[in-house]
Amino acid sequence: MKAMVLKEISPIEKEPLEIMDLPDPFPGSKEILVKISACGICHTELDEIEGRLPPKLPIVLGHQIVGRVEKLGSGGIRFNLGDRVGIAWIHSACGKCHFCREGKENLCLGFQGTGCHANGGYAQFTVVSEDFAYVIPERFSDAEATPLLCAGAIGYRDLILSGIKKGQTLGLFGFGASAHIVIQVAKYWGCEVFVFTRSETHRDLAKNLGASWTGGPEDKPPEKLHCAIDFTPVGETVVHALRVLEKGGRLVLAVIRKRNLIPPLDYAQLLWDEKEIKSVANITRKDAQEFLALAAEIPIIPEVQEFKLEEANQALILLKQGKIQGAGVLRMLD
Ligand SMILES: [Zn+2]
Ligand SMILES: [Zn+2]
Repeated sequence: MKAMVLKEISPIEKEPLEIMDLPDPFPGSKEILVKISACGICHTELDEIEGRLPPKLPIVLGHQIVGRVEKLGSGGIRFNLGDRVGIAWIHSACGKCHFCREGKENLCLGFQGTGCHANGGYAQFTVVSEDFAYVIPERFSDAEATPLLCAGAIGYRDLILSGIKKGQTLGLFGFGASAHIVIQVAKYWGCEVFVFTRSETHRDLAKNLGASWTGGPEDKPPEKLHCAIDFTPVGETVVHALRVLEKGGRLVLAVIRKRNLIPPLDYAQLLWDEKEIKSVANITRKDAQEFLALAAEIPIIPEVQEFKLEEANQALILLKQGKIQGAGVLRMLD
């Protein structure tokens, strides 16, 4: 099979992903072989490539995968050949540790990430345990469904963890793949959404999707925020968000890694009055399942920009520069 392979940590500008011919993977017991049709690109891949979240090397990246079941391993019962399935960031969890037993498999001591600890979706085929694959609702095309699996599912977890309630004000800092889905859920839940981004095109998309105000990260919104979600990879945003957070409000940090340090926080100005900061790590299968159903019910309309598999380096450079509108998706051709 053709795959884009990362062999060593490098700045993305050096275009480190290499197109290679790899042997087709073979499904083990209770695993499925998936013929990939589309795979979304994600900021986490930049963190892996550039070494902030070092993957096992060499690795096939990609954790927002949609394709069809091509082969069944022994003992599989959930899927039939040809079924459309999705694969997300959670590739496996042990099922035995105290986190798994408490329903927090995202924090599992043996957590394995797709395209990080196991080969992922920048390829024509991949394998996964049938227990960690999802049925994709009919109404989404393959490409449209990819951002639902990370940008969407993680965004849903961010929203739940933010504690937002109907009619409250929500601030979104950064407006990429995840935020453009989160705003649609928040509007569906009756929230007022303010979007903070430097990009004019992202502000336009935010307004089209129902933002009642848009501005830059340092700007003052018309009202204080009950909850805020920070999708940006930079530390300064934490200060900007805390400054406009309402008393008792919660700021959720959605990224796996920040590119630079969070500046010192003035306790009296930024944290006192019972303000909270919470990070989000990984997703559970329940997050993905609940979100896919909700996305179909609303329905979410993901905006996608397509690239060929071989263009993965260029697509990720555009992502780093904040130049992708909605979500970037790699399409596999036969
Ligand atoms: Zn992701
Ligand atoms: Zn576990």
